Amino acid sequence: MSFEFFGGTSPVDVGPVYEGERIRGKQMYIEFGGPKVEKHFELCRVNQDATDGKVTIIGPDIKDMEEGSSVPIGIHIEVAGPQLEEDLEAVFERRIHEFCNFVNGIMHLNQRYTNWMRLSKTAYEKGFDSLNILGAILIRLFKAELPIIEKAQVTFYTDAEKIKEPHAMAMKVYNARDERARGLHDEDVDMYYGCVLCQSFAPTHACCITPDRTSLCGSINWFDARAAAKVDPKGPLYEVPPGECLDAFAGEFSGVNDMIKKRSLGEISRIYLYSGMEFPHTSCGCFEAIDFFIPETGVGHGIIDRSHNGVALNGLPFSAMANQTGGGKQMPGFNGISIQYILSPKFQQYDGGIKMVVWMGKTVKDRIYELLPEDLRDKIATEEDVSDLNDLPAWLEKVKHPIIETEEYKAAVAGVEEEEEWEEEGAMMPVGTVGMTIPGVGGAGGFKVILKNCKIHAESIIIKKIESRRGKKK
Ligand code: SF4
Ligand code: ZN
Repeated sequence: MSFEFFGGTSPVDVGPVYEGERIRGKQMYIEFGGPKVEKHFELCRVNQDATDGKVTIIGPDIKDMEEGSSVPIGIHIEVAGPQLEEDLEAVFERRIHEFCNFVNGIMHLNQRYTNWMRLSKTAYEKGFDSLNILGAILIRLFKAELPIIEKAQVTFYTDAEKIKEPHAMAMKVYNARDERARGLHDEDVDMYYGCVLCQSFAPTHACCITPDRTSLCGSINWFDARAAAKVDPKGPLYEVPPGECLDAFAGEFSGVNDMIKKRSLGEISRIYLYSGMEFPHTSCGCFEAIDFFIPETGVGHGIIDRSHNGVALNGLPFSAMANQTGGGKQMPGFNGISIQYILSPKFQQYDGGIKMVVWMGKTVKDRIYELLPEDLRDKIATEEDVSDLNDLPAWLEKVKHPIIETEEYKAAVAGVEEEEEWEEEGAMMPVGTVGMTIPGVGGAGGFKVILKNCKIHAESIIIKKIESRRGKKK
């Protein structure tokens, strides 16, 4: 299918069938944004003065770029229409991801200031050599898929200097949206919302968006979801009546369970909104951050976000943990979350909440430092304080982290000490210890498996039950 646009035809096909297309490093012609590029963003705003069909490129166009390079990208879409209101901007903005992925030869990942897009060599060779083509496609799709948009214009920024100002403006807009959402809590409303935009990648995944739990992609808060469900109730964002509250502390609601049962086609039947350990919310692939359990602390958690270079405290980089976390699975111990959710008073409260976070990647901690509880923020280690799990207990003791008072932590640390004694007595070739966690069925508890001295053979296997914190209100 060729794709007609203003004044021309797209050199490549465009349609939902191309969603999910992967473009690996070797196949790409140019990479826009992503972790190698300092400033990049995508933003949608309502502007009733938008000029329909106008595409502007500020900086070099694709044909002027060096093959294989990673370049800045700002995508600023302005839309107009009598029914449009500011609350709809974030939801429109989230569609940039979907619409770019409709293009055969473009892979788009993430959102906001973590957006990342690749153009394939094949598409370039077919003549996709200008962002004007992408701009025209986006305008056409926005108007066709969202009929309340009557006019749309797109501005691309690809110049490292000239992107700075619009990038700062976009960050301000994101912050204002987040700040507004932080003022509202789950008990203040009688309607939650759902989103299935990510089902093309993760068919059993549906987000439940509440005031306290901004969507895990970080781009749709409760206000945004409400506005979208109002203008298009049959669309990908919809109302979720919470129904009966089955467990206020865990965040279990009959209406949310019914929603996930239906939307996951029976695959998932229960969700605890405020737990990453038991019946956790599913994760698709575009979570801003991962909340991961650290079994060696008994009850502690770490948080790593997408911008983190290098490995987390558990020795895994974000990408490896993302593979564990994503795909629409319910994966206790690995929970995809938005950064805003970390700041909610309900944040994983069932697992001990923010007080049980012992480690955060520096990128995420720097971003929210001022908003973290004052008596806790300097007690949460980053990779600059602790990069080896073995050094964590000394740090926690030194800063008097609240976790050290918990029975779970004391038991975990005592267990490790016992093992060390055992290792000294029975050591033959101390060549390495490998630990892993096996989550329990349905998200409850689980086991930890430790393989000791396992370079040549496993000298011992320790299987430990992980106690759940069910009902421990701390
Ligand atoms: Fe929707 Fe959730 Fe995907 Fe965000 S992560 S687009 S809220 S399904
Ligand atoms: Zn997603």
